[in-house]
Amino acid sequence: MAMQCPSCGSAHIQPMAVVHAGGTQHFHATHTAVTSDGQFVQGSSQGSQSTALAQHCAPPAPPSPLPFIGAYGIGGIIIYMSMTVCPLSARECVYVGMAGLRYNWKQAAVGLGLIALGWLLMKGWRTQAKVYSAAKRRWQSTWFCHRCGQAHHRE
Ligand SMILES: [Zn+2]
Repeated sequence: MAMQCPSCGSAHIQPMAVVHAGGTQHFHATHTAVTSDGQFVQGSSQGSQSTALAQHCAPPAPPSPLPFIGAYGIGGIIIYMSMTVCPLSARECVYVGMAGLRYNWKQAAVGLGLIALGWLLMKGWRTQAKVYSAAKRRWQSTWFCHRCGQAHHRE
C-alpha cells in the first residue's frame, strides 16, 4: 500500500531523513594552479552544503555535554591545585601550608562551586538529552510531503 499525504493525498512523500540526506551534498573539489615559476600546485576543498529544504528537514541537534564536562574538569583542577601547594618535606612547609590552606579554602570552595555547577549542568543536559532522543525518534518517523510542503508524523 502506497503512503499518501493525509493533507493533499499526494504519494510524493518521503521520510524527513531521506529528504535531508537527498538535499545535502558532500563535495570534494580539486583545484590546480600554476605558480609564477611554472610549477603545478594542487589544493582541494571539501565540505557539505544543504538546500533550504534539507535544512528544513534536518534532524534535531543533540545537546552538548561540554559545559558540564568543562565545569567538572576546571573544578577538579582547582581543587587539585589547592591541595598540592604544600610540599611534604621541609619544615617551613607547615607555615606555607597553613597560610596557603587559609587561602586555598577559598580556592577549594570555588572548585566545589564549579563541581556543583557542573552537577546542575549535567542534570540539565540529561533532561535535554531525553527531550532530544524523543525529538529524534519523532523526526525519524516524520514524513515530508513534496506537494504541499507539510510534515506529517507517522507511527
Ligand atoms: Zn501533501
